Amino acid sequence: MKNTPPIVIGGGPAGAAAAILLGRAGAYPVVYERRESVGDALCGGFLSWTTLRRLGELGVSGEALGGHIVHTLRLTAGQQAWRMALPESGMGVSRLRLDSMLLARAEGVGAEIRRATVRYEDGTFQLPDGQAIEADSIFLATGKHDMRGLPRSRAAAKGDPFLGLRMRFAAKPELREQLSGAIEMHLFPKGYAGLVLHEGGFANLCMAVRKSRLAQAGGSPERLLAQLAEGDTPLARRIAALPTQECMDAIGHVPYGWRAVETQPGLFRLGDQAGVIPSLAGEGIGIALVSARLATDAWISDGPVAAEAFQRAFAARLRSRLAFAGAISGIATSRHVAPLFGIVASIPGLARLMGNLTRI
Ligand SMILES: Cc1cc2nc3c(=O)[nH]c(=O)nc-3n(C[C@H](O)[C@H](O)[C@H](O)COP(=O)(O)OP(=O)(O)OC[C@H]3O[C@@H](n4cnc5c(N)ncnc54)[C@H](O)[C@@H]3O)c2cc1C
Repeated sequence: MKNTPPIVIGGGPAGAAAAILLGRAGAYPVVYERRESVGDALCGGFLSWTTLRRLGELGVSGEALGGHIVHTLRLTAGQQAWRMALPESGMGVSRLRLDSMLLARAEGVGAEIRRATVRYEDGTFQLPDGQAIEADSIFLATGKHDMRGLPRSRAAAKGDPFLGLRMRFAAKPELREQLSGAIEMHLFPKGYAGLVLHEGGFANLCMAVRKSRLAQAGGSPERLLAQLAEGDTPLARRIAALPTQECMDAIGHVPYGWRAVETQPGLFRLGDQAGVIPSLAGEGIGIALVSARLATDAWISDGPVAAEAFQRAFAARLRSRLAFAGAISGIATSRHVAPLFGIVASIPGLARLMGNLTRI
């Protein structure tokens, strides 16, 4: 039974992918996105090889994205450094480019994008003027944080949560040459920093840091960078060469490891609303796309009643990936074990295995 057009809330990768698939099925979905125009979201600057394949299936090819092709991972911990080939090529590309292309594709197949922030009140999804959204199927794709009025079913990321920090800047020719074909992952106690080139000669430095580590730096991202720049390590050298006038974007409390195991009738939770994988795995966008595919397949075949079975099945599929990525993330950011992680990861075949075990 599909009586009203399906509603998608959130126009990031999960919501846009759902809109493309619903539009292709002739459903004329309506997407509510809170941003007035597409922004350059902090998270998701690297696309894995499986994600690139899935984007291709949605009509957004790697060539059209035009990002920076990545075939090598350079991993560092303290003064040690390792280098390994990725199982297949990935891509560094901005979220501005990715989200713009996905939303344009959705509009091209009949989706309507409306700019409004949706909230949940008195058991209904509501527009800013208080009008309730009337729909028997809602695809909730609002990202990693709770929607106002609709807290997550289980508390997530208790204890010492991770925060996300990002700096995007025009890379000097020397840095462009050094990063050519590579993504760098610098591990440090209680955090890590990923550095990759994007389209247009920009570089993206993205960090996940435990709250307590930022607190040690007085809560200031700039002071944290200054502390990490001390000593003679590959990370210190990279930070020392960063442009000083750029400020860092930040997001708080990322609920890594959380997943939705249940939902309400007619409510399909997608992307980070379905499960949040540690960013070290570089698979969050992949999860967004796969959840959109499976949810829309279920809806096309059975309608809104399919939501609860979809959510349970997807939670089961995510379980081992989240657990494995969580374990890797814990090891990689521990002071004592991180160097061991680098040695193990550089053993031929193991990087491939670790990469594949976290792919959705
Ligand atoms: C530090 C960090 C680095 C990461 N790096 C990578 C990476 O390199 N590669 C990778 O694959 N993954 C990465 N991830 C994970 C990845 O970014 C997410 O998994 C992915 O963005 C999830 O997509 P989504 O569409 O579910 O949510 P989002 O990308 O968060 O999109 C949600 C959308 O919903 C909109 N929205 C939110 N609330 C409302 C509302 N109430 N009403 C209307 N609209 C709303 C937002 O404006 C946004 O457009 C990273 C995560 C972190 C924290």
